[in-house]
Amino acid sequence: MDYSFTPEQNQIREHLRALLGKACPPEYAAKCDEGARPPREAYDALAQGGWFGLIVPPEYGGSAASNTGSGGGNGSAIDLAILLEECGYAFEELAMWVFRTLTYGGYAVMRDGTPEQKASILPRVARGEIAVCFGITEPHSGSDAAALTTRAAEREGGYVINGQKVFTSGMDCSDLCLLIARTSSGEKKHEGITNFLVDTRTPGIEIRKIKTLGQRAIGTTQVFYNDVQVPKTAVLGKVGQGWRAVDAYIWYERLCLSAARTGAATAAFEYALNYAKTRKQFGQTIGKFQAVSHQLANMKMMLDISRTMVYRFAWLMDQGKATRQDAAVVKLHTGETYKAVSDMGLQILGGYGYCMEYPMQRFFRDSRLATIGAGTSEIQRNIIARGLGL
Ligand SMILES: Cc1cc2nc3c(=O)[nH]c(=O)nc-3n(C[C@H](O)[C@H](O)[C@H](O)COP(=O)(O)OP(=O)(O)OC[C@H]3O[C@@H](n4cnc5c(N)ncnc54)[C@H](O)[C@@H]3O)c2cc1C
Repeated sequence: MDYSFTPEQNQIREHLRALLGKACPPEYAAKCDEGARPPREAYDALAQGGWFGLIVPPEYGGSAASNTGSGGGNGSAIDLAILLEECGYAFEELAMWVFRTLTYGGYAVMRDGTPEQKASILPRVARGEIAVCFGITEPHSGSDAAALTTRAAEREGGYVINGQKVFTSGMDCSDLCLLIARTSSGEKKHEGITNFLVDTRTPGIEIRKIKTLGQRAIGTTQVFYNDVQVPKTAVLGKVGQGWRAVDAYIWYERLCLSAARTGAATAAFEYALNYAKTRKQFGQTIGKFQAVSHQLANMKMMLDISRTMVYRFAWLMDQGKATRQDAAVVKLHTGETYKAVSDMGLQILGGYGYCMEYPMQRFFRDSRLATIGAGTSEIQRNIIARGLGL
């Protein structure tokens, strides 16, 4: 068993740390959060650095090697986890924006796109020219996502979409939305689902921003589809068999989210550690009090486990050995860890942790979504329990 990164993977991390240190410093992240402004400059800096091409094959303008083993620097799942961990370390909302584009514009199109879709979309993803979001959740179908009712009816040469989505994050700053809709009613709710890549500016689409506790830079939206006409070429994958594909995208999503949140949790931990080493009370730095140092020791332990799990899961994905339970375990642990670490970090900062001037409140707010979004912790436990034969 080899736990080391390759020299290329170490280089990937170093390059990203340097690039994002300049393009996405903490003050910039704070401003984007305060102003509810997408981190466009940081996204563009990653694009210019060629990082969106990491998972895209060279024939579409990317840098991924056709053999995506875990050799490093070739677009493997491990490389992708490093990219997302570093983005999350700089600013979680940047990581969210990047991962959605790579997952729903990159991975989904590579997996299920027609040659025409690949030729038209992948080069734009690789250049970081477009952003892609994901719309599955509806007001009456959250955890029970397959119960969705947004309907796409076939009409001369295309489809007409009617329905309502909620929590489509980044719809207002994306070019395409991977929209999951119902084209027919099968015996089971998972049947009759079709995936569409919809231009977010298509007439009939109405987007309303939702005010949220955290994740404010990109934010999330409610989207109304009123007689939205899309061509047949907007269908991604097979008509009526979209659920199987969604399931595959969600595994990929869980890797990206887990890596991003581990990066963000590491940033929160480092801030709290530094604070504990400099803040003095009762004539000594607070980190000298066992009550505080043990909290930091626990945070370090939880983060070490998160990172190990993220890269183990990435390795399993590269080997084609990852299971649904593995995906649920890593998502559950990293999400709960991020939430716990941010909470403990806030406590270590005392009253300053509660002030908007300090970054810990943002970690605290943002991390709250980690156990809710993309499948709640309860749903992950259900998946794990099913895997145990329960
Ligand atoms: C900020 C934000 C961003 C999001 N971004 C996106 C996005 O980009 N695209 C998208 O499509 N969706 C997105 N979502 C939606 C997100 O994935 C859902 O909120 C989540 O899956 C839970 O669904 P729900 O909110 O409807 O809760 P519900 O499903 O109503 O669940 C409510 C509670 O009941 C529990 N529960 C439900 N069913 C079970 C069960 N079987 N066993 C045990 N407990 C259960 C849940 O765990 C939860 O605690 C986002 C949500 C938020 C808040």
